[in-house]
Amino acid sequence: MGKKELTDDEWKKKLSADQYKVCRQKGTEPPFANEYYNHKEKGTYHCVCCGQPLFSSDNKYDSKTGWPSFTKPIHQSAVTEEPDYTLESIRTEVKCSNCNSHLGHVFPDGPKPTGLRYCINSTSLQFKKS
Ligand code: FE
Repeated sequence: MGKKELTDDEWKKKLSADQYKVCRQKGTEPPFANEYYNHKEKGTYHCVCCGQPLFSSDNKYDSKTGWPSFTKPIHQSAVTEEPDYTLESIRTEVKCSNCNSHLGHVFPDGPKPTGLRYCINSTSLQFKKS
């Protein structure tokens, strides 16, 4: 899959208002009022912007936070992680490696074996049943 890079205007046209806000402007959807936080079907969660596979239901768990949470991405190369200084505590932002869509953040308080919690906005994902 080639790198997907659209202009800001092109993303605005392609995405819904909510998707644009989360994915391209690093917004955060409300907890518990989103599509996938309690979603338990087997399959793959893809990037809503470019279609790249990002997370597997095999690594999804209930973090009780109200956002879909995973212990790891489907492949480490599916995402890029970088420091986010926008709040007082430094967080690690998680982005789609193909199109740079903002997905959420990763925190070091997840379950074994990785100890990581990928806290992801449903809005940035599109589920495909396996
Ligand atoms: Fe993407």
